[in-house]
Amino acid sequence: MAVQFGYSINKSNTIDMDTAPRAMESYLLLHEPSFARCIGCGCCTATCSSGVFTQLNLRQIQLRIRRGETQGLLPEIQKCMLCGKCQMVCPRGVSTRNVVLSIQRALQLLS
Ligand code: SF4
Ligand code: SF4
Repeated sequence: MAVQFGYSINKSNTIDMDTAPRAMESYLLLHEPSFARCIGCGCCTATCSSGVFTQLNLRQIQLRIRRGETQGLLPEIQKCMLCGKCQMVCPRGVSTRNVVLSIQRALQLLS
């Protein structure tokens, strides 16, 4: 009889990048190549106008796309006001407004 110790082992959250869905990332790299230059510094998130009122986190959204975790992105990306402030502070010259617009288009096309 199996002994129940009262705990369980959590499923590993390791991402297998060889099998993770990359369609969204490929779409962005094609339509906004500057997406590849993002180093995840977070300056965009720190200055985000919408971030003052919402939990919008562009750095995290870009990271999730790289990891193939695109579930639930639409309500997040819809919080962006396209003000362009993040683009002005990005040290890597990422065209963040077009990244946001491309994510919105990709969500329509790929869903
Ligand atoms: S500021 Fe630019 S480089 Fe930094 S996380 Fe945002 S998009 Fe990436
Ligand atoms: S364009 Fe969107 S993500 Fe960038 S600062 Fe403005 S509201 Fe935030």
